[in-house]
Amino acid sequence: MTRDTHDGQAVHGQVQNEVQEKIGASLSTLGSETPSGDWLVAARERVRVFAQYDRAFEEQADVVVVGSGPCGAVAAYELAAAGHDVILLEEGPPFTVRDFELDGNLSMTRTMREGGLRMTSGTVMPTMQAIALGGGSLVNSAICVRPPDSVFDQWATEYELERTDRAHLDPHFDAISEFLGIAPTPESVQGRRNLLFRDACDAMGITSEPISRNVKGCRGSGECFTGCRSRAKQSMDVSYVPAALRAGARVLTSVQVQQIQHSGRHVTGVSGQVVAPFSGGSSRGRSHHFKITAKAVVLAAGCTATPILLKHSDDLANASGQVGENLRFHPGAAIAGVFPEAVDPQFGATQGYQSLAYLEEGFKLETLWAPPPLLSMRFPGYGADLQALFTEIPRMAVWDAIVSANRSTGTVKARWRSLEPSLRWNIHPEDVAIMRRSLHVIAQLFFAAGAKKILPGVQGIADVMTNVEETWALASDAVKPKNLVMGGNHVFCTTRMHGDPRRGVVDEDGRCHDLENLYIADTGIFPQCPSVNPMLTGMALARRQALALSDRL
Ligand SMILES: Cc1cc2nc3c(=O)[nH]c(=O)nc-3n(C[C@H](O)[C@H](O)[C@H](O)COP(=O)(O)OP(=O)(O)OC[C@H]3O[C@@H](n4cnc5c(N)ncnc54)[C@H](O)[C@@H]3O)c2cc1C
Ligand code: SF4
Repeated sequence: MTRDTHDGQAVHGQVQNEVQEKIGASLSTLGSETPSGDWLVAARERVRVFAQYDRAFEEQADVVVVGSGPCGAVAAYELAAAGHDVILLEEGPPFTVRDFELDGNLSMTRTMREGGLRMTSGTVMPTMQAIALGGGSLVNSAICVRPPDSVFDQWATEYELERTDRAHLDPHFDAISEFLGIAPTPESVQGRRNLLFRDACDAMGITSEPISRNVKGCRGSGECFTGCRSRAKQSMDVSYVPAALRAGARVLTSVQVQQIQHSGRHVTGVSGQVVAPFSGGSSRGRSHHFKITAKAVVLAAGCTATPILLKHSDDLANASGQVGENLRFHPGAAIAGVFPEAVDPQFGATQGYQSLAYLEEGFKLETLWAPPPLLSMRFPGYGADLQALFTEIPRMAVWDAIVSANRSTGTVKARWRSLEPSLRWNIHPEDVAIMRRSLHVIAQLFFAAGAKKILPGVQGIADVMTNVEETWALASDAVKPKNLVMGGNHVFCTTRMHGDPRRGVVDEDGRCHDLENLYIADTGIFPQCPSVNPMLTGMALARRQALALSDRL
């Protein structure tokens, strides 16, 4: 073992008990019956963390689920609750409150792949993928939105889908919403940053509403991005994963799946290696080998990892040639506005208010908060000028737009034959036009709410705008893709669902067209952008698919 591995082991030895206590506490709050002490001990023993692996191992199950993000966690729970023997595998470690870092940069190096610095080439854009028990749910803003009918209508028509509409998916949305306690953000934890957005929308006659989130007892600390220290956010590690354990599943953390074992049209399990926490899954952190044999495999490793796993496994499930193709994002951009009086943006739900008024035009508006060093990426200037801007943060609010960029596509390929993805993506001129329009609307909203200036964060136009007339520059072709500071944390379509096996990778139940017992349950199966934040849709599809798989086992 390398020195890094030993360090990881030491760190994790310390937190292991805390993790199991935490999971135990979560377990005891789930369900109506009070679990007995023996039962709790048994459930805790079904979770394994890095410090517990001391040799190579092999295990068997009915179903092995790869990835504990929102989609994998739901699939694992539903299958275990239906009485199947389930193993949930996760490459990242579990995080306790003690593991969360408030410093945004430090937090990203621990919770994200490539330290949060993963980029697309072509149009250069950062994209974050978590590596943790709970996947993206650990660091996301808990936004839960159901796509409108129009999104599903388009999916059905263009991708030959018969059962992927609101009528078929609403029961799954309902079940997940009830389980996670999804509800609109109450005014008591909105904070001024969010309420100013509401007031701005009112002033401009635009509809807006409090964002529905998977939280219980949120205190509006604005820390969702670095991990919820009050554990109010119902990320998978404190919700669906404990529920899966309670239903009898085994959960193995710090294990990296590297191969899908198969024979003809049948998969037989997965294999890989133990990886040290916080080593980013790189070869320096790898140690013992493992193999899991199962009757069915569910891949939920995320939209950028699942296609690489398939490619690594003899180009499995790729008769259509669509594995790793069709990569799509919701590129997002934000503007900061400075108000005459205090906003205290650090208080309030991280993302508490939204407007769906422009969904048909191709964008969604939201409020936003993140640690100041990360937000400052969009600030102009350096040295004394930059310092001066930092002193204005207490009077700032940040609002963003995400664009449903269906015309902008790309690919995921393995980087140097490793498990790391190389992402190529190009923004389409028509999506750039939507981005411009969305930035212009945000800028207008700020002045409607009484901002004294805005920082558009776009190179090639004014660094600072002080009145609404100046905002027209944002709608002009002076705003070029290379000048935009965008981020793309919503990723889709790399193993898309299609009714026609020649044009897609999975069917409507998530089963690979080419194989009898290989399923994919992450946002890679979306045929197009969902137009709204994707987590809830991914979970609804995963639930439907788990129930279908359960019937076949
Ligand atoms: C900062 C941020 C904020 C966001 N905010 C929101 C929001 O508020 N609302 C919303 O709807 N969406 C949000 N998103 C997007 C949302 O989090 C993702 O769409 C969602 O997490 C995708 O779920 P998933 O299960 O498909 O994949 P992931 O959440 O990416 O989970 C995949 C899991 O698989 C694991 N894995 C990968 N490869 C392997 C392997 N080889 N072996 C074992 N395990 C592996 C990963 O470590 C990871 O834990 C946000 C994303 C980010 C990064
Ligand atoms: S705003 Fe704060 S308390 Fe609320 S869910 Fe996010 S991190 Fe937790």
